[in-house]
Amino acid sequence: MKKKVAIIGSGIAGLTLGNLLQNNSNFEFVIYEKNETLNFDEGFGVQLSVNGISILNQIGFDQQDKNEKYFPSKLDFYSINCNKICDLNLDSFNSENAKYTTLKRSILIKFLKDKLLSNSVIFRKKINKVEKINEKINIYFSDGLNDEVDYLVVADGVFSNTKQVIEKKKIKPVYSGAVAIRTQIKKQDILNFNSKNISLIMGSDAHIVLYPINQRGEINLVCIIRKKSEGDNFTRKLLESTILKENKNLINLFKGDLKSWSVYTSGKPIKSIYENILYIGDAFYTFPPTMAQGASQAIESANEIFKLINNNDKSIQNKYFENRVKRTNLIYKRSKINYFGFHIANPLLTILRNFFLKRLVKNKNFIKSYLGKIYK
Ligand SMILES: Cc1cc2nc3c(=O)[nH]c(=O)nc-3n(C[C@H](O)[C@H](O)[C@H](O)COP(=O)(O)OP(=O)(O)OC[C@H]3O[C@@H](n4cnc5c(N)ncnc54)[C@H](O)[C@@H]3O)c2cc1C
Repeated sequence: MKKKVAIIGSGIAGLTLGNLLQNNSNFEFVIYEKNETLNFDEGFGVQLSVNGISILNQIGFDQQDKNEKYFPSKLDFYSINCNKICDLNLDSFNSENAKYTTLKRSILIKFLKDKLLSNSVIFRKKINKVEKINEKINIYFSDGLNDEVDYLVVADGVFSNTKQVIEKKKIKPVYSGAVAIRTQIKKQDILNFNSKNISLIMGSDAHIVLYPINQRGEINLVCIIRKKSEGDNFTRKLLESTILKENKNLINLFKGDLKSWSVYTSGKPIKSIYENILYIGDAFYTFPPTMAQGASQAIESANEIFKLINNNDKSIQNKYFENRVKRTNLIYKRSKINYFGFHIANPLLTILRNFFLKRLVKNKNFIKSYLGKIYK
């Protein structure tokens, strides 16, 4: 008999797992999403490194319209006064089929959703309670309906309300001490930077990342600013007291609609009290955004679960958890180093950082270890 998998959440993690399961006749699956629809209009970008891309290619991402994707070859580092410090060659991690890719997040979500059968995602669904009956998990929803499954995979993002319901305790993400600001611009707005590459502009307590998201010259901007306390994100005021105070010419980057929010990261990853309940994507662990790995790790974690349940592995939870924690720790440590390096305020330390950065980006062994282990 086919095994049944319920997935909670139709973000990048949940939809990727759905696609992997759909190509395997040993399983039936359903994705339960709390919202009424998926948002295909949102224009913000996402960066995907080759570790994520090579998994997406298994479900046909390489056939996706190339005009809606961009393949940056370099990451350019700049100081806040727009002086280029050095660049990192991203091509060195690419293979013929899997390239470092940037695109609109909504294009990725649409691709993942369109590949699924139309009844694979059920909307307006939230879990109220779960119960283990024999080897199965019985899920009770807030609309009074229930479902009995062999595996429950929770992919409901950073705040993972489902995790709290299942584990029957408060599990809250932690405010990271930073605010994210996003907007979209055109390539003619970024004359000081090379619009073909990813640009990383480092200031005191803040950094900006710019990258093309398609072949039409649309550019995604994300800016991370340190801010001690949560709430009251008066975006323009925050920009004026940080980035624009250091370089007022950067105002051109922030002419459009700005969206800002507080950035959260996870506490320690947890194993479920139930053997056949697993957490993936941001619900497993939410990274600081300074390695651009959240989406790629959501994809990787979906693939790990797929492989383990496909092999009918008896100790899925232990194997998954052990491997995922190792990956998480590696990426977390590098995210913290990046966070520190991108936000140096002391002028002497800035000179030192730039001196070492110029050497490190050209040091093949260092790059292979620092990034290659993650992009493998
Ligand atoms: C500023 C910023 C920039 C980033 N940039 C990048 C980047 O360039 N590259 C990158 O790789 N990552 C990036 N990330 C991280 C990345 O966006 C996330 O890690 C990734 O989207 C996580 O996917 P997910 O599927 O786990 O969760 P989500 O995308 O959050 O999806 C969760 C889904 O679950 C649904 N849901 C929520 N609660 C429930 C519930 N109770 N019941 C049912 N459904 C529910 C939600 O509606 C949603 O559809 C960035 C993050 C930030 C904050």
